[in-house]
Amino acid sequence: MGTTVIAEGSRRVARKLRGQRASDGAGVRMTRIIGTPLLDHFDPFLLLDEFRSDDPRDYVAGFPDHPHRGFETVTYMLAGRMRHGDNQGNTGLLGPGSVQWMTAGRGIVHSEFPEQVEGLLWGFQLWVNLPAKDKMTAPRYQDIPAERIPEVELGAGVRARVIAGALGGIEGPITAVATEPLYYDLSLDAGTSHVLAVPEGHNVFVYVFEGEAEIGPDRQRVERGEIALLEHGTRIELRAPAASGARMIVVGGRPLNEPIARYGPFVMNTEEELLQAFADYHAGRL
Ligand code: MN
Repeated sequence: MGTTVIAEGSRRVARKLRGQRASDGAGVRMTRIIGTPLLDHFDPFLLLDEFRSDDPRDYVAGFPDHPHRGFETVTYMLAGRMRHGDNQGNTGLLGPGSVQWMTAGRGIVHSEFPEQVEGLLWGFQLWVNLPAKDKMTAPRYQDIPAERIPEVELGAGVRARVIAGALGGIEGPITAVATEPLYYDLSLDAGTSHVLAVPEGHNVFVYVFEGEAEIGPDRQRVERGEIALLEHGTRIELRAPAASGARMIVVGGRPLNEPIARYGPFVMNTEEELLQAFADYHAGRL
């Protein structure tokens, strides 16, 4: 009976897991999804945090001055506001639906504070590694307000905000990034499905942050709060079950396949470069 469906190129879920409760900065509580003992990194992604709380005690302390070198930090806000400032005089206010893609490069010292003392603060911070040749590049900011992030209707009941990469003929506003990233905020109404084309060799993950999704040719179920790391392939089959819609971030990048020397806010290729980063920071050279 029936024919065998060959799902060649359709990415399967290689691994699925939940994040861990964590605290960072001056005591901000969040869930750490990448950058834990269970999932140290997913090349080129070094860290993924979801912060989501309407209890100000979880977030008001913020992230006072701290350095970064050797990678990029990406903040995507779903709700609430964050104020950003650095030691070069740059400042910015991230509102709901906005994104900041910061290339730390050779180094910055910055702070990140909620611009609110009540209400929901919800968003993600992702760390994206830089290749060795770009680790000491000049710092760069791409501050993208919500209205500059295009929203595309991919089919009935399927919508995406395109932050980075191209989708449905629409280019995201983030440009010229070393790992050629894609970053989509994808919503599927209950009972809908979509097949997403992605670069074959990119590492791609899906993090479901509302409802639940079914991913891949064998419809692996992924619930809110779970990350699915995908095998390689040219496309991703996504659906929302009849009983629930789904909202997720779909994030991919070209793997760097370089050694990682990492400690706290610095990510380099060798221990020697890591020690140099600390020395430069303590000498006020960042
Ligand atoms: Mn930071």
